[in-house]
Amino acid sequence: MDLLLADRAAEPPTPLRVFPLAGPPGAALYLKDESRRPTGSLKHGPARDLFLDALRCGEIGPGTPLFEAASGNMAVAQAHFARLLGLSYTAVVPGKTGPDKRRRIEEQGGRCHPFDPPLAVYQKARFLAEASSGHYFDHLQRVGDAVDWSGPDSLGAGILSDLEKRGEPAPAWIVAGVGSGVTSAAIGRYLRMRGAGTRIAVVDPENSAYFPGWAADFPGYTTGMPSRIEGIGRPCVEPAFDASVVDLVIPVPDVASVAAMRHLRAITGLMAGPSSGSCLWGAFHVLDRMRREGERGAVVMVVGDGGETYRDTYYDDAWIEAKGWQLHGPLSDLERFTATGTWGVTPAG
Ligand SMILES: *Cc1c(COP(=O)(O)O)cnc(C)c1O
Repeated sequence: MDLLLADRAAEPPTPLRVFPLAGPPGAALYLKDESRRPTGSLKHGPARDLFLDALRCGEIGPGTPLFEAASGNMAVAQAHFARLLGLSYTAVVPGKTGPDKRRRIEEQGGRCHPFDPPLAVYQKARFLAEASSGHYFDHLQRVGDAVDWSGPDSLGAGILSDLEKRGEPAPAWIVAGVGSGVTSAAIGRYLRMRGAGTRIAVVDPENSAYFPGWAADFPGYTTGMPSRIEGIGRPCVEPAFDASVVDLVIPVPDVASVAAMRHLRAITGLMAGPSSGSCLWGAFHVLDRMRREGERGAVVMVVGDGGETYRDTYYDDAWIEAKGWQLHGPLSDLERFTATGTWGVTPAG
């Protein structure tokens, strides 16, 4: 625990960047760049908190082999902390997981265990842990309780202190993506605790249960379909999602998310992943609403991960074309908003 806490104390804060906007003054857009965490995504903090929680509970001891069912940013971050503690780490991944995704986990010292069908990876990881007296993190179930949302190192505290340093009050809105739900829950709880008055909007891609579940006020909603936007969207509402601190759920078409990740790069030079595209689209929606209602203030969106991982997918025109995604419509909406402040896009869903 000392190692992990010292590592946390030594970690520099992530930057808050400005997104340049035209249009009427009074509203500003900031990017909280969590792609600059040591393992390249906002999963870095929750992964460390899962280790701290398991250590506190006595579930990890010397030599305990560690297991998770995850193939993306969570697995990369957990492999990093396992190596820091000198423990073996195995990520049970769907069989179709590509070599680039596996390599990111292996570069951090983790092992990948491919398994099918994809929905059985959770049971498989639990089974492998039990068979070797190891520990199964089960992040989707446990991260909500494990994460430190109220401390000075929490994401909510970081965003408020970034704005304070710029002489600015708490933002009007914060926009984040939802996978496990822990990021929006942690930020929302912190801002409510501080009485900041900030509202929380989350963005939801196609095939995900968060928007339909929220719109129908039915947390048991399931889609049974995987999201096509890496990092966000789930076939069911996960336990870490805290609807009581979320003010708005914005459905974002997948083409709009991809167009927006490219627009983000074109305007700021920041190459981020597709969940950041979803957030940018949602942030424009919220900024437009603020302007229509005459509200002043800042919108902060969370950049969830970097884009290098997606060079051969979302950033590759041939890959996009093979998916049948037409980007020019949403791209011109985004370009018009950035250049003139006029949105005029009807929400999907
Ligand atoms: C996990 C993830 C999210 C969503 O975060 P949760 O805290 O799981 O809701 C957003 N973007 C990226 C890139 C992620 O990896």
